[in-house]
Amino acid sequence: MKEMHFEDAATKDGIWPLPEDRLRIVPTSGSPGTFWEDRGDRRHCGVDLYATTGSKVVSTEYGIVLEVGIFTSPRIVPYWNETLYILVENESGLCTKFAELVEVDVRPGDRLRSGQMVGRVGSVLNPEKIDDEAPAYIKSLKDKGDSSMLHFELYRSRPKVSEKYLGGNWFGPGKPPGLLDPTDRLVAISKE
Ligand SMILES: [Zn+2]
Repeated sequence: MKEMHFEDAATKDGIWPLPEDRLRIVPTSGSPGTFWEDRGDRRHCGVDLYATTGSKVVSTEYGIVLEVGIFTSPRIVPYWNETLYILVENESGLCTKFAELVEVDVRPGDRLRSGQMVGRVGSVLNPEKIDDEAPAYIKSLKDKGDSSMLHFELYRSRPKVSEKYLGGNWFGPGKPPGLLDPTDRLVAISKE
């Protein structure tokens, strides 16, 4: 990726991934959707940026699309809708995952400018299918009506597939190799 160059020095930290979002709230300690949030039997691998379903999602920096795939599906968990993810390798070598999307506008191999539209925010949860068997944090999301968001993950390098990782959560001991906390980065971008 050395052949790519930064043309817009004004955006050194990157571009906020939700151009229609004026509030730019990054969940931090204690609030739902924080990085590594303890969800009982699982931990949250990313940061949730709440947004209306259908909101535009743009690339935060220059990069190349490594993968596009299914992130959640009712075939895996009955109360999930089908949503998609995009994995991008940034010029810095870090990898960003944009997930819980209803629409994806890029393909593997595409080169991205910072601020380029990559897809639209979707909604993972199907409220009609959430019953008493669902984890408490899922039921609380349903009660609040907050189920549409961009799930944002950051990795030191391309993440490996693991059976302990599902729908943006990590089951079991340890941590996904190379997983980084994107909170400080997102907070910096939110102030650009
Ligand atoms: Zn999430």
